[in-house]
Amino acid sequence: MEKFCQSCGMPLSPANQGREQDGTKSTQYCQLCYIDGQWTEPKWSKNGNYFGH
Ligand SMILES: [Zn+2]
Repeated sequence: MEKFCQSCGMPLSPANQGREQDGTKSTQYCQLCYIDGQWTEPKWSKNGNYFGH
């Protein structure tokens, strides 16, 4: 079953999955959005909504 990054919508593969702080793969976000348990480049609007990438 194909999964998609919940932030940017790009298809997730083992090669581009994000990583949690403990080193496990994230099943929800790609490594461009989320790596080592942190957002790579958070973008928040003035009213607090997350824009993604
Ligand atoms: Zn992403």
